[in-house]
Amino acid sequence: SWAITLDDVSVTYANGTRALSGVSLSIAAGEMVAIVGLSGSGKSTLIRTINGLVPATSGTVTVGPHVVTGLRGRHLRRLRGHIGMIFQGFNLADRANVYRNVLVGRFAHTPTLKTLLGLTTARDRDLALHALDKVGMLEKVWIRAGQLSGGQKQRVAIARALTQQPSVMLADEPVASLDPPTAHAVMDDLRRVNRDEGLTVLVNIHLMDLARQYADRMIGLRGGEVVYDGPAADATDAD
Ligand code: ADP
Ligand code: ADP
Repeated sequence: SWAITLDDVSVTYANGTRALSGVSLSIAAGEMVAIVGLSGSGKSTLIRTINGLVPATSGTVTVGPHVVTGLRGRHLRRLRGHIGMIFQGFNLADRANVYRNVLVGRFAHTPTLKTLLGLTTARDRDLALHALDKVGMLEKVWIRAGQLSGGQKQRVAIARALTQQPSVMLADEPVASLDPPTAHAVMDDLRRVNRDEGLTVLVNIHLMDLARQYADRMIGLRGGEVVYDGPAADATDAD
């Protein structure tokens, strides 16, 4: 499990929009942190800056032993192999079955000759099935992803990320499109992954109640700046 550090990070997009302004954060290995803020406050940019999808305009981003700032090409792909990503829209291959979707996590960003030929090892299979078991989706292994409910899709996406054996997990609004009970079930899974594997989890949430309930720590963004950083349980609506 890896720590994440941002030191005075700013991001300005090509069109001049300043999405992050002087953000400094230090997330310890094994912490579960919720990023909260209104739409447009910079949550998604923060996650994309950590996985190297959006370059920091200034400042330094460090993930585990890697300085993300300035990484390119295969070095960046190698880093991303260690980062499990969860998206609001699930990003599953709807026509493939659950097993295939999860197995893909084994080959994220580092295709080998074997995987290009579609060969999988017993270890790949074990990791995929273990991850599906972890999120309670083992019995759906042969179902096509497109036939699952939103909550089930998100749990398969979590299993896919786990199969990668990541060192950190980044989730960009993973429950934004789910109804409240389903959102709770998905947050439960993320929390369990954090606790059982000691995995660092950073999750964007626009609902403060969920953040309070499931995260150790809450970081509030407004207009691209950190306006709150403290224990999630202590955060009140007045903060
Ligand atoms: P979501 O918030 O659903 O993840 P995006 O991250 O694509 O959607 O967009 C977030 C915000 O950034 C939106 O308000 C969108 O209009 C804006 N945005 C995204 N891409 C661009 C772009 N290339 N130029 C200007 N604004 C953009
Ligand atoms: P959030 O995830 O909190 O909704 P974002 O990080 O998506 O916030 O957006 C922060 C700001 O950056 C917004 O003003 C948004 O419109 C803008 N933005 C996001 N993506 C892009 C992009 N690709 N190009 C230009 N502006 C963007």
